[in-house]
Amino acid sequence: MQTIWAETALLPTGWACGVAVDLDAMGRIQTVAENAPERGMRVPMLLPAPVNVHSHAFQRAMAGLTERRGPDPTDSFWTWRQLMFRFLDRLTPEHIEAITAFVQMEMLEAGYGASVEFHYLHHQPGGAPYDTIAEMSDRVIAASGLSGMGLCLLPVHYQFGGCDQRALTIGQVRFGNGFDQFQVLHAAASTTIDAAAPDAAIGVAPHSLRAVGRDDLKRYAAHFPSGPIHMHLAEQVAEVEEVQQAWGARPVDWALEHMGLDGRWCLIHCTQMTPQETGALARSGAVAGLCPITESSLGDGIFDGVRWLDNGGAIAIGSDSNIRISLSEELRTLDYSQRLRDRTRAALATPEKSTGRRLFDEVLKGGAQASGRQTGRIEAGAWADLLCLDTTSEHLWGRTGDTALDTWIFAGDDRLVTDVWSAGRHMVRDGLHIQRARITADYKRAMDALRDAL
Ligand code: ZN
Repeated sequence: MQTIWAETALLPTGWACGVAVDLDAMGRIQTVAENAPERGMRVPMLLPAPVNVHSHAFQRAMAGLTERRGPDPTDSFWTWRQLMFRFLDRLTPEHIEAITAFVQMEMLEAGYGASVEFHYLHHQPGGAPYDTIAEMSDRVIAASGLSGMGLCLLPVHYQFGGCDQRALTIGQVRFGNGFDQFQVLHAAASTTIDAAAPDAAIGVAPHSLRAVGRDDLKRYAAHFPSGPIHMHLAEQVAEVEEVQQAWGARPVDWALEHMGLDGRWCLIHCTQMTPQETGALARSGAVAGLCPITESSLGDGIFDGVRWLDNGGAIAIGSDSNIRISLSEELRTLDYSQRLRDRTRAALATPEKSTGRRLFDEVLKGGAQASGRQTGRIEAGAWADLLCLDTTSEHLWGRTGDTALDTWIFAGDDRLVTDVWSAGRHMVRDGLHIQRARITADYKRAMDALRDAL
C-alpha cells in the first residue's frame, strides 16, 4: 500500500492542507485525511490527473512533417493527406505498439492520468484483416501495459467515404469494417481488455456522420448498451455542408434529432455550431471533447466555450493528432481562443473560480464522464489518478491554491509536473517516466524503420 502526504491538495471540497492519501493494492484511493500527520511520500501540491479523452496515437509520428503546401494553393490539407497515405502503407503492429507507448509516456509526463484512444487503424495494408482481427487494438492495449497509462480503448467503426455511402479510398481501406465485421472486432478487443489492467476499459466510436450508415447511427447506443460512445462531430465547414446537402440538416441538429445523445456520448471538436446548436447540444448532457492544439493546427475553428459552459455543458480535453502533447498548453489554448474571438480576458473564469481553476475542474469532471472512469476526484473509491505540481519551483514560488493552477497553465509548462500516478501506478518520478529509456529506444527504432515513408 502506498501513502502520499501532500502539503496542499485539491479535494472535491476545495483546497486542503496536510492531506494523507492512502492507495490500495488495486490502485484505488482508500482513504483521504486532512490535517494529517506527515507519513509516506511527501509532495508539495497534489491534484487529480485529468483524462486525455481523444488521441490517435500513431499520428504522433507525423508531427511537424505536414507544414508545407502542395501544388494546389487552395488545398492546405494536401501535404497532410499525402504523408498520411504513404505512412499508412507502412505501419506494422510493432510500430503501432512502439509509437503508442511513446505517446502514452509523453501524456503521463504532461500530467494526464488516463487516455482514451480513438483507434481506427485496424487492418493490413490493402485492407485485409490480420489473422487476429483485433491485432492492432491488442497492440494499443499492450502499449498501455508498458507505459502504465490507464486506458479506455475505443475501437472505431469506419465504413464509408462520405454521407452518400461511397466506398473508402485506397488510403482509407485499413480503417474499414462493415457493421457485422466491426462487431466481431469489438468483441475480440473486449476480450483482451478484460485480461488487461483492472482499470482498463472499452467503449465504442462511430467515426463520424460521414463514415457510418444513417440507419446504424440511429441505433448505435442500442447496439452497444454500455460504455462511452465517442464520435467526431462538426469539425470543419466542408463536413457541415456535406451532411446538410445529403441529409437536410446540419450535423449537430441531425445528431440531436436522431441519435439519442446523452451523457454516454462525447462529441469531438464541435467547432462548427450555431448558437442554437451549441445550447441544445450542451443541454443534452453529452461531453464536448475539445482538442484546442490540434484544432489550431488544422485550422478547424473555435469552439464556443463561453456559450457552452453558460448552458451547463460538460467539456473534456484531448490531444487528437498529438502534434504536441501538453496538458497546460491545451487548457491555455482553449481559453486564449475565446479571448481572441471575443476580445475579452479570462473568458471562462467565474466570480467564484479563476480561469485555471474553472478549466481544471471542468476537464476533470468531463474527462471522468467521457471515459466512464471513476476519476477526477481525490476521494475514497476513485482510481488514484494523481499529479504533483512542483510549487517549490521558481516558477510557482509563493503561489498557492487557484493562483498556482493559473500560473502553471498560463505562465508555466508541464515541466512543473513532477510525479504522476495512473490507477496507483507511479509512472512519472521527478518529471520523467520510469520506462523512458526503453520506450524511447523502441520509438526511435520504429522511426528509423519508417524514415523513408516520412
Ligand atoms: Zn480525432
